[in-house]
Amino acid sequence: MDINGYTQHLKCYSVFMNIELPFERIPASENPLSADVIVIKQGGTAYIFDVGESDEAYDYINQIEEKKVVILSHFHRDHCFNLSRLKVDEIYGGKETIKHTKTGVIVRSEISLSDDIRLIPLPSSHCKGCIALLYKDFLFVGDALYPGIEKGNEKFNPQIMDNTIKTLENIDFKYFCISHRKLFVNPKEAIMRWLSFTREHI
Ligand SMILES: [Zn+2]
Repeated sequence: MDINGYTQHLKCYSVFMNIELPFERIPASENPLSADVIVIKQGGTAYIFDVGESDEAYDYINQIEEKKVVILSHFHRDHCFNLSRLKVDEIYGGKETIKHTKTGVIVRSEISLSDDIRLIPLPSSHCKGCIALLYKDFLFVGDALYPGIEKGNEKFNPQIMDNTIKTLENIDFKYFCISHRKLFVNPKEAIMRWLSFTREHI
C-alpha cells in the first residue's frame, strides 16, 4: 500500500475526543522535523518521552526543574537530537537507540519506572529498537506504527507487523498516542482495526 492509502485510512479512523490528558505535550513540528515530546511529572521526577529536535522542545525540557528521566521511542534524529544539548539524569531506550546515544539503559524487556509507568519493547516495521511507554490509559508509541523506508519506498514487514499487533493486543490500554499526527490521541480499537486492515493489504 502506498503512503497516500495509508494516510487516508488512518484519517478515516480519527475521532475527535474531548478527554483530559494527564500529561504535558509539546506538539511535533515539520520545520525542523521534530517529534511530539511528552512530559509526565510524578513526585520530583519528570518522565520525558522523546526530546525532539526543535528549539521549542529544547527550551521546554531545559526549564524543567525536576529530575529528568528521558525515554527515547527510537533512534531517529527528530526524536533524539535535543539530547545532544540537554543535561538529563537518566536515559532509557532500545539497543539500537542506546548505540546512538552511547549512554543510557538498554530496555530489553518490559520494565516499570514507577507504579504506573511501564516501558515495553515494541516490534516495528519503522526501525529496530522501538520502545512504547504505558501510562494509565495511554500508550505512547512514537513512530512504531509507521512503515519503514526501503530504497525510498514506505514498507511494512508482514512478520514484524504480526508481532506488533500481537504485542499490542496483550497490553491493556484505551488510547494510542502517535507521534507527528494532528490527532495525537486515538482510540485503541480504531487503530487496531487500521493495523489489521493494513496487515491484510501489504
Ligand atoms: Zn519521527
